[in-house]
Amino acid sequence: MDKIVSLCKRRGFVFQGSEIYGGFQGFYDYGPLGVEMKNNLKQLWWEWMTVEHDDIVGIDGAIITNPKVWEASGHVKSFVDPLSECKKCHKRFRTDDLAGKKCPECGGELTKPKQFNILVPTQIGVIEGEKVNAYLRGEACQTIYLDYKNVLNTTRLKIPFGICQIGKAFRNEVTPGNFLFRQREFEQWDLQWFCHSSEMEKWFDFWKKERMDWYKNLFTNPERLGFYQHEKLAHYAKKAFDIIYEKSPCEIQEIEGIHWRGDWDLSGHAKYSGQDLSYTDRETKEKFVPQIVETSGGVDRTFLFLLIDAYYEEKDRVVLKLHPKLAPYQAAVFPLLKNKPELVEKAKEIYLNLKKNFKVGWDDRGNIGKRYFAQDEIGTPYCVTVDFESLEDKKVTVRDRDTMKQERINISGIVDYFKNKLDN
Ligand code: ATP
Repeated sequence: MDKIVSLCKRRGFVFQGSEIYGGFQGFYDYGPLGVEMKNNLKQLWWEWMTVEHDDIVGIDGAIITNPKVWEASGHVKSFVDPLSECKKCHKRFRTDDLAGKKCPECGGELTKPKQFNILVPTQIGVIEGEKVNAYLRGEACQTIYLDYKNVLNTTRLKIPFGICQIGKAFRNEVTPGNFLFRQREFEQWDLQWFCHSSEMEKWFDFWKKERMDWYKNLFTNPERLGFYQHEKLAHYAKKAFDIIYEKSPCEIQEIEGIHWRGDWDLSGHAKYSGQDLSYTDRETKEKFVPQIVETSGGVDRTFLFLLIDAYYEEKDRVVLKLHPKLAPYQAAVFPLLKNKPELVEKAKEIYLNLKKNFKVGWDDRGNIGKRYFAQDEIGTPYCVTVDFESLEDKKVTVRDRDTMKQERINISGIVDYFKNKLDN
């Protein structure tokens, strides 16, 4: 983890939030390379959800909602973390994280667990005395339930169908830590799949497999992914699984939860809002409250685990063997020498041409070996070098990050060459 944190800072993937003020625990900023990778990741998720699945549409809901939402969802009452405090050093620990009955820091005696609500409160309004207490959303999915009727009324969807969303969530985590793993502000990607109760079992199994396949396709070592089956279940749930990264250096391994939510959420909102949130089947005329299968994952946790999974130290190089579609740059272009205008001109031409189709980096500092290593460290899968021969034979050298093999490619076919490589 220390190596990943240091790489993230050194190369501009992730910075500590408010660093010049000494930081602010549980908050991070994505830097120039990190935001590219995170956007690639989110785009892959979004396209997979909405393009590959005809019956899923997206929304982008507000972070602050009517505060009643959090009463209806049960978060005001039950979004609590049980904590135990050490009687000696007064440090607090999530009871869930404690292996034994003693303080992990000093061995002191621990108090009985106490409950802390982790919703982040805020106030809306400008006039003192008239301000309304509200919450930053504790989970992104609630807006999907709120918009479910609007989505049905404005699209041609019928059950079964899904609504997906990527968005920020906020939690007053008692023990933020492990870098991006447990933050107070983070991003979630959710799918809420609405179906008939008779089909819950089928869809639950379908989404469990479908989501695992998606992650497996992205990780460098897919065999490190697994399922964790929950034994303690919410009263409305029949089963719950986590997709986990088994080499997680953090206290737990969860990346995403596959949840059986039944009609708990829609029935709760129907009760609290007084609105009818039932669905009428157009053919059978059956009226029912849809049941929901949820897949809810953490964008930042996935980002962190992808980096950990892709990180290799090989002899004198550090290399991120990231999926090419995730890497901040898909290729980098170098002129062999920076002080030879004819090389720089040709390399710039290739760089600008490639940029129309891919995310491309440019480097003309130091020697070629150093440039390769600098690109390996940020996961760039291909480096393109323009040398003196290129001016004669109209070819460039393409070097592969993982095999370090080099091949000569025709400049005229370079866009197709990368299209083929990146589609496979
Ligand atoms: P945990 O048990 O780790 O607190 P959770 O079970 O409460 O997580 P969910 O409410 O199911 O998590 O949220 C869905 C996903 O959001 C999680 O699988 C995780 O990837 C991500 N997530 C939850 N809390 C955080 C956090 N504090 N920081 C970063 N990501 C988080």
